Amino acid sequence: MAEVKQKKRCSFCGRNEKEALILIAGMEGYICEVCVDQAKDIIEDEVKGKIAPGSKDFNLPDNITPAMIKGYLDQYIIGQTEAKKYLSVAVYNHFKRLRQDVSDDVEIEKSNILFVGETGTGKTLLAKTIARFLDVPFTIVDATVFTQAGYVGEDVESMLSRLLQVCEYNVDAAQNGIVYIDEIDKIARKNDNPSITRDVSGEGVQQAMLKMLEGTEVNVPPNGGRKHPEQKMIKLNTSNILFICGGAFAGIDRIIAKRMNTQVIGFNQAEKEMIDAENLLQYINHQDLKSFGLIPELIGRLPVLTYLEPLTEEVLERIMTEPKNSLIRQYKKLFELENIKLTFTPEAINLIARKALEFKLGARGLRSICEAILTDAMFELPSQKDITEFVVDEAYAARKISASKIQKLKVA
Ligand code: ADP
Repeated sequence: MAEVKQKKRCSFCGRNEKEALILIAGMEGYICEVCVDQAKDIIEDEVKGKIAPGSKDFNLPDNITPAMIKGYLDQYIIGQTEAKKYLSVAVYNHFKRLRQDVSDDVEIEKSNILFVGETGTGKTLLAKTIARFLDVPFTIVDATVFTQAGYVGEDVESMLSRLLQVCEYNVDAAQNGIVYIDEIDKIARKNDNPSITRDVSGEGVQQAMLKMLEGTEVNVPPNGGRKHPEQKMIKLNTSNILFICGGAFAGIDRIIAKRMNTQVIGFNQAEKEMIDAENLLQYINHQDLKSFGLIPELIGRLPVLTYLEPLTEEVLERIMTEPKNSLIRQYKKLFELENIKLTFTPEAINLIARKALEFKLGARGLRSICEAILTDAMFELPSQKDITEFVVDEAYAARKISASKIQKLKVA
């Protein structure tokens, strides 16, 4: 019997070698380029359907006002009135912008925010709290891990990978999320003269961030890190993502002081005296950021600029006691679970605040100091069943602090 020579055909659509550009061989058949493309689309639709179940309406309810947003922030963040006000308005406007009719002539720009303030004053807490209020995905990234494309380090796009990860790759949710970029001051241009050398860590990263902050389609590597050609990317539009940047901008007070001094020359003495030299950050403007080393294009994409006040003894005391989930409330709860009533005397609370100031740890130090004071009690009390009350007074707190390693944390 004569053997019939089988013609190569795509096993899916039947195209033969002449009709198809390429036929890829499998174990028992072939597939042409058109069917590969179609199969890819089917997979994408299927997978997308699985990873983005349902869609949520990411918008503020109609009756919300900026004052209500600030009211929510007040429950968790002490002081920082100015920053809270700016944040509330920025978020409110952000959502107004999302609702805007696309056919409208006046396009409202994004209200990305820049917080300037010493470490531990509540910048991250503000960003985290607003994300909780809005019930949108939130992630914190550190600007120092990024380098411009082609250098060792992470591409700036990887911050969007984190956002995708926190919402389990729900693209719709991620596109409405909030990214907090910490330590933005660390990518400032080190040198005032941009042409001297290529500044890999600073200016290049700032450049790389521009489009993303403004709003663009970004191909995001799902697992972060570097982009690999073989890695499947997820397309994300950043137009509705709110970027909040924060930094301590150490030394910027000198820039502000210099600018203000030159500005007040020629004015009368009274005006000069009105300047609060203790807290120069409150006078910060976009020009100061430029002098510090942020490129004008980046500054332009962070239109809302506000500052955080340095924490005083009184504010630290309030931070310990007032917020809904304050430290003291948390410890009380922990002890309550052991059926022990825990109390701190006002003098003990004042001592903790003073120590936090002395150690220059900001509000972050409060926790370490409280741990130093309470660890022994938390270790011993659960095995002493008859104790129902425990009082931390100044003498007890002072004793525990001086016996602990925390003294070594003191910043010189
Ligand atoms: P930053 O980002 O400015 O360095 P964080 O927001 O991370 O500081 O603050 C560190 C911790 O200190 C927070 O988790 C919070 O418990 C506390 N904290 C700082 N500032 C405040 C504040 N104004 N009100 C309440 N808690 C605060």
